[in-house]
Amino acid sequence: MTTPAVLILLGPPGAGKGTQARMLEEKFGLVQLSTGDLLRAAVAAGTEAGKQARAVMEAGELVSDDIVIAILRDRLGEEDTARGVILDGFPRTTVQAEALDTLLAETGQKIGAAVALEVEDAAMVTRISGRYTCGDCGEGYHDTFKQPATEGHCDKCQGTEFKRRADDNAETVAQRLQAYHAQTAPLIAYYDGQGVLRRVDAMGDIGEIAGALGEIVAEAC
Ligand code: AMP
Repeated sequence: MTTPAVLILLGPPGAGKGTQARMLEEKFGLVQLSTGDLLRAAVAAGTEAGKQARAVMEAGELVSDDIVIAILRDRLGEEDTARGVILDGFPRTTVQAEALDTLLAETGQKIGAAVALEVEDAAMVTRISGRYTCGDCGEGYHDTFKQPATEGHCDKCQGTEFKRRADDNAETVAQRLQAYHAQTAPLIAYYDGQGVLRRVDAMGDIGEIAGALGEIVAEAC
């Protein structure tokens, strides 16, 4: 990896962006930047941005571009991102995509690839409704698809506290899917126009999807 590059993961909620970003982070040393995680941290810390974002997130709508862009700009300014980043959940609007182009022009980084994780909406509600994470290390689990090998103990860190996101319920998921199609899906054409779009079928096996993404990173980032 010569030039520190940026990998963008595009896809609706439940497509596996977070899971895949974590795997790529481990394998390639890139830094995962999830605006959802950054916003949840701001809500938990009770910052001004967090206070404004909270109700919007609980409703499954998009937080304002100004807030999200400011949060991302701050995070991109931290030293570790010079190794290259995986953007998970950003950009989600054309305004954000344009702001990212401007930010990257300032830092000298470039978009290696924008990967559209292609999934069927119908499967996303099931995927999201059953998911939870380890409260200590963040490892992801699912009621049906991936339970810890020893019940109640995280496979990775042996933690015993697990948590579910407040917005991972059926009503909010429907709103989040709608927001994705209305505001984020147009970015697929945006990045196609920039010549960096790649498409990956994300309905199958997690390991196979990771393999396809790994090839893209090795080639483009
Ligand atoms: P995620 O963890 O990516 O599913 O994001 C959870 C929620 O945070 C979303 O439903 C939005 O309310 C908010 N959010 C995360 N990233 C963005 C973004 N780039 N733009 C606007 N809202 C965002």
